[in-house]
Order: sequence, then C-alpha cells, then structure tokens
Amino acid sequence: MMNSEQKVDFDVIQIGYGPVSKVSALLLDRLGWKVATFERHGEVYPLPRAVCIDHELVRVLHAAGLGALADEVTEPAPIYRWFNAEWKELLSIDWTAGSVSGGTEVTFVHQPKFETSLNAEIKRRANIFPFFEHECIEVSQTDDFVKVVVKDLTSEQTKTYTASYLIGADGANSVVRESLGITRTDLGFEADWLVVDFLLADGLTAKDLGLIECGQFCNPKRPTTIVPGGQEDGKIWRRWEFMRLPHETKEEMVQESKVRELLGDWIKPEQGELVRHALYSFRSLISDSWRDNRIFLAGDAAHLMPPFMGQGMCAGLRDVWNLIWKLDAVMSGRAHSEFLDTYEIERKPHIIEVIKQSMFLGSIICIPDESEAAKRDEMYFNGEAPPPAPFPYFVGGFIQHKDGKPKLPAGKLSPHGTVRHQRRTARYDNFVKLGNTLVINERIDEESFSESIKELISENNIKTVQVADKTSADDSHISDIQGQILPFMREHGICAMLVRPDLYIYGGANSLGGLHELVTDFCNDMSAYFK
Ligand SMILES: Cc1cc2nc3c(=O)[nH]c(=O)nc-3n(C[C@H](O)[C@H](O)[C@H](O)COP(=O)(O)OP(=O)(O)OC[C@H]3O[C@@H](n4cnc5c(N)ncnc54)[C@H](O)[C@@H]3O)c2cc1C
Repeated sequence: MMNSEQKVDFDVIQIGYGPVSKVSALLLDRLGWKVATFERHGEVYPLPRAVCIDHELVRVLHAAGLGALADEVTEPAPIYRWFNAEWKELLSIDWTAGSVSGGTEVTFVHQPKFETSLNAEIKRRANIFPFFEHECIEVSQTDDFVKVVVKDLTSEQTKTYTASYLIGADGANSVVRESLGITRTDLGFEADWLVVDFLLADGLTAKDLGLIECGQFCNPKRPTTIVPGGQEDGKIWRRWEFMRLPHETKEEMVQESKVRELLGDWIKPEQGELVRHALYSFRSLISDSWRDNRIFLAGDAAHLMPPFMGQGMCAGLRDVWNLIWKLDAVMSGRAHSEFLDTYEIERKPHIIEVIKQSMFLGSIICIPDESEAAKRDEMYFNGEAPPPAPFPYFVGGFIQHKDGKPKLPAGKLSPHGTVRHQRRTARYDNFVKLGNTLVINERIDEESFSESIKELISENNIKTVQVADKTSADDSHISDIQGQILPFMREHGICAMLVRPDLYIYGGANSLGGLHELVTDFCNDMSAYFK
C-alpha cells in the first residue's frame, strides 16, 4: 500500500492517445509535469475524423507554445453553405468571418496530420511517456493517488502504474468512465451516416469537380455532407458523408458497391483514391459526472455530439485547456482540490449548449421525408426559420457573479488580435503571457487605483495591461491595431476586464468604482480556492 509520502510513477496518467490526450500531455509538460499516456493501438490513428478546428483552439495552441504547429496544419475555412434538393441556399454560416480571437471563425485540418505533428512534438519532450499497445483494464484510487492496471498487448503481461491524477481521454467507449460507473444522459439525437474520405488525384481540386467547397446538401432523398478534408503532403482530401435512410440497413451501407453508388454522381473512380469508408452512429451523449476525486473525464469520453458544427474535437481540447491550469494550481500546492470542481461546473453547461446547437443543425439536414423537407424549405425561404444560436459562454464556476448570475462579459472568451508594442507588431498573446491579467483602456489611470486595490493586485499576482487605440503614439501601451480589444470592451460597456490564465474573462467593470469591486470579488473568489 502506498501512502502520500511515497512517490508515484507519474504526476498524471492519461488513458488514450487521441488528440485530446496529446494536447493535454503537451500542456502538462509545458508546466513541468511528468505524464504517461496509455494507448491500446500501436500508432497514431491514421484515418481522418475531425476536419475543422475553431478560432479559440487555434489561439489556445498558440498560447501553449504550439503556434507554429497550428499554422502548419490548418488552412482557412470556406463559407459553410446549406442547400435544399434544388440547390437553393437555405442557410449560410460564414466561417471566413473574423472571430473574437483575431483569425477566421474556423480553419480546416486533416486530423491525422494534426495528430502526427502533435506526436512528433511529444517525442521531443522528455517528460511525456507515451505507451503504445497498452490497454487500460482497470483504474482505482485512494485519497492520495490513482492506480492503473494496463495490459501490454505485445507481451500479454499486465503492469501497474501510479500517478497523482488520471485523465480518461479514452474516447466514446471510455473504460475509465465505465469503471467509475459514471452514467450518461442522452440528449436525443441519433442518426447513422456513412463517412467517405477521398484523396483527389494530383492537381485536381474541388472546383475542377464542380463541388461546393463546404456544405450540406439537404436533399431528403439523400442528406449529404460535402467538406474539405484538409491537405497532406500537397494532396487534397475531400470528405462526403451520406445519411443512412430508414429503409437501408447498416450492413448494406458499408458495402463497397454501395459506397461507389453513393459517390457516383460526385466523383469518378479515376479522379482519386477512395481511402476509407465507415458508418458512424452520431449521438448526443453527456457524462453525468466528469470528476471522481482524482480522476477526470475529457473529450469524447465525457461528451458526444453530431458533427454538423465541427465541434467534437474542439470541445475536447477546450476541456483539457480548462482542466490543466487548474490541475497545475492544485498539484503545485497553490490551490485547494475544490478548485478542480469548477472544471465540470464550467465545461458541462457549455458543452450541453454546443451539443444542442449541433443537434439543431442536424435537425435541418437529417430529414429523409420529402414533405417535411418541403416544410423546412418553406420556413427558410419565408424567413421564419430560427438562426443558429450564438456560441455559448461559461455560466458558472470561477467567474464574477452578481445576484447569483454571471455578470457579463464574465465567462466569455477574451478578445485577441494583432497589436503593436514597443515598435513591434505581433499577436497580443506574444506580448502578454498567460496569467491573471487586468486589461484596462487608456481612460483608466493606474495611479488612481486605491492603495488597497494596488495591494490586492500585487498580492494576487495580477498583471495590469493598458490597451490603447491604434492611433495612440504611446508605445509603452499595447496598441490595438487590429481593433479587436477596445471595440469588444466598448460593446460590453466596460473599461476594464480581468482575464484568467486560460484566456476566459473573470469579469468586467464599467468605471473605476466597478474596477475596485471587480478586483475585490476576484481576490475573494481566489481566497476560496487558493491557499
Ligand atoms: C465523421 C466525424 C467527423 C468529425 N468532425 C469533426 C470536426 O470537424 N471538428 C471537430 O472538432 N470534431 C469532429 N469530430 C469529432 C472528433 O473526431 C472527436 O471528438 C475526437 O477525435 C475525440 O478525441 P478524443 O481524444 O477525445 O478521443 P479519440 O480520438 O477517440 O481517442 C481516444 C483514444 O483512446 C484509446 N483507448 C480507448 N480505450 C482504451 C483503453 N482501454 N486503453 C488504452 N487506450 C484506449 C483509443 O484507441 C483512442 O485512440 C468528428 C467525428 C466524426 C466521427
């Protein structure tokens, strides 16, 4: 039996080595923690699933020191267009538009290339220990550590490892979730889709084939998704997804003859290589609990959604981005273990909203009935269809509350863009390192802060950053040359905002008095969670 004085093998063990586990390991390594990952497969999963990644995660990768990798594997997304059976546009989601993070809303990625690049990065880190062909068969914990039993699939031997914490990033059929007896709630979506990935012949593009760049063909005779699949070594991937119709069986959907029949109208065999096809059951499931003492669930192990919003992997990466800075605070002895409860409090309502939005998009396309589809078209053409809801933000957890409710913009992602500082132009995050940051506009004079507020700022390690208009001549400030930060603050009626180390806004203030209240509330909340 091990007690708290004895050393564990690793600080954190992660089960699974999908994108969520890889990014999580890199985030932990960056903060100096020793991580082991156990993956039952012998290599990085070679087939694509996710094809897009949103602005927030691109920013996160940059902030985590993986900016070059993010830039290399992503490409700007086209407009996401939804058509009816007559190719009349029902809906258009502008993924090319500017986002709060300063880049486009969405970028496209080839998931295996992304994961291979992450894997190469991991190999360069001395503190990450990836074990392949090691299947987790049991997890258990005491008050002080977690214990994992894994089976080495090459030698058939079982081995036991210990760590301070464990993250179950082991996908939809999570053994970690099962072994903790954690149940899931079904939000009510289920549809089977055949996913087909095609590598275009040299030199061919979607345009040559007369394809829409990215969209949904909401034809009740065969609801179809047509999207880019990213690029790899100069080759262009294209993805089709075909909904299984009520009269078709799962077995017939995966026959190669059926795949060829479905692809028939879209692409000829000589125009490229059919790399894979697989039938997926798109579900909307959420784990009822995300933490059991020292064990956490993240990624598909915690939630599943239909892919129409391109958010499954993004949501998983958002999970570990939220969790790791908190785990770091607790493992380094700065915060109490209760701080880790805010992981589920913040992430779960957020993801439920994202799942519901994905289901809403699914409800537009997954209509195999002609009269229902006609009613849908009518709604869109008469302007009666509800637009997609705005992207959610955190509604609880470590954010400023007023009368029990989050005080907006508390819980939103902070704005980001290209700025100028001391005669250099770069990303804001290059100048302002992650940490508790009080962002103020030019009208606020730091000198006018009360002595007690100055003391709280210093005691709680809060960095103050003054953002000036792009026309400002004062080079000591951050100059908002892309016009991302100050317009956001004006839109929310604030002159100051306190940003957490994960780039989320703790709270905002609209006056000097409000700023004093903001800093006081933040420090009070800090003292509840931090030592
Ligand atoms: C058709 C399709 C399209 C999609 N499009 C998008 C998109 O555009 N954008 C987006 O963000 N998301 C998208 N997604 C979702 C995205 O692919 C997943 O959410 C993401 O891959 C989940 O990552 P993960 O790391 O949580 O799990 P996984 O990638 O499933 O990784 C889990 C790993 O755990 C391993 N494992 C499981 N059990 C054990 C065990 N007992 N021991 C050891 N190892 C184990 C598995 O082998 C696996 O490698 C799409 C999904 C599909 C199916």
